[in-house]
Amino acid sequence: MGSKVATCREKTAKIKIKTKGIYPRIFILSGPGGAGKTTLLNRLFHKKFVQDNFLRTVSVTTRAMRKGENEAKDYFFLKQEEFLWLEKKGFFLETQKVLSDFYGTPAPFLKEAKRMNKDLILCIDVKGGEYLKNKFKKNRIISVFITAPNEKELYSRLKKRKEAKPQIEERVKLAKKELQFSKYYDYLIVNKRIKESLGRLEEILKKERGDK
Ligand code: 5GP
Repeated sequence: MGSKVATCREKTAKIKIKTKGIYPRIFILSGPGGAGKTTLLNRLFHKKFVQDNFLRTVSVTTRAMRKGENEAKDYFFLKQEEFLWLEKKGFFLETQKVLSDFYGTPAPFLKEAKRMNKDLILCIDVKGGEYLKNKFKKNRIISVFITAPNEKELYSRLKKRKEAKPQIEERVKLAKKELQFSKYYDYLIVNKRIKESLGRLEEILKKERGDK
């Protein structure tokens, strides 16, 4: 009996070695606008461990470029007809309409992550997150929900964005809806202080990467 268990362990260890790195895992970061996801992600990628082991996707969007954003760094900004054409061609891993704009994760990032033996990190909305959770095997998806310490803080952060009032109100409404999804995520980070949240996020990545 004991030797059978040992053989079985040996075999699964061998399988693990053989398959290690073949299928990239997908780390999904979601949370309402104003929670600080982008700042966190930007800082995360200053770390060597993250650069060495993870690939960050750049999404395609049809929304207008905001002040301070850059093409191909923050998003690939496309016209709606271009986006829909790419979608029809099967270019995306997933797409969603968020408020009045389309967003999509380009599928080639997954191939590239596989080639580089890295895992993928993407920052997408809760519906996109749900879609990917259903599309891939459970052990390939790790989801992290990031939120502000409280609703008041979240709304005040959203209002500081230089957007028109109706757009801000729409985003506040959306944030309320998105907060309902936090319970479906593997991890929750309440982003009070950026340094602490960054530490927590790095800890999660290290733990999950180590478990691979
Ligand atoms: P924003 O316009 O504020 O940059 O993003 C609006 C929402 O769209 C955010 O929740 C953001 O995470 C999400 N988002 C950005 N890129 C993608 C994507 O490729 N797919 C999905 N599903 N959501 C995205």
